Amino acid sequence: MKRMQPRRCALMLIAFIILAMQPAIVSAQKREAAYFCPMDAGVVSDKPGTCPECGMDLVRRKPAKRDRNLVRASELQPGAPVFEKKLKTWTVRVYLTPAQDTGSLRTVRIDVVATKKGLPISDAEVWFHAVYPSGRNLMPLCRWNGTQYEGAIDLAQQGVYTMMVHVNRGDDRRALSFRYEQ
Ligand SMILES: [Zn+2]
Repeated sequence: MKRMQPRRCALMLIAFIILAMQPAIVSAQKREAAYFCPMDAGVVSDKPGTCPECGMDLVRRKPAKRDRNLVRASELQPGAPVFEKKLKTWTVRVYLTPAQDTGSLRTVRIDVVATKKGLPISDAEVWFHAVYPSGRNLMPLCRWNGTQYEGAIDLAQQGVYTMMVHVNRGDDRRALSFRYEQ
């Protein structure tokens, strides 16, 4: 039998090491959300305990906090509102039209619907305004037809837009804000 070339042998050894490491990598990812040593980056465990390296108590990893008022462009579903807030007497839904040949200019549509059937909402007033990532404040012209608001917003900038919807209906005055990440 011909002797294996040393180079080929080394490649096979590397391939073997990579294959052998696979399960270890997967189990380390599974344990990601559990306990870790703040001093030793590699020490993780799925149970509380002490670090085998330094003896410190392992710390429970906190789950990442989700910002409920932050909407990400990548998470949008077709036809679904960007933002929806259900209140006692009415529900506010904000829609953005998908990107079109108008470039970054999008239509903002705000629907205010009665949360309970039979509540008239025609006397409501709606304002919308946005703070651009650059800090510029935009108050688009309000076109409120009694049940719906329509305006435009330029989403050319990358970053977080803070959008505010002010609704005034009889005694119900609310300012709602949400952030939209482009
Ligand atoms: Zn440690």
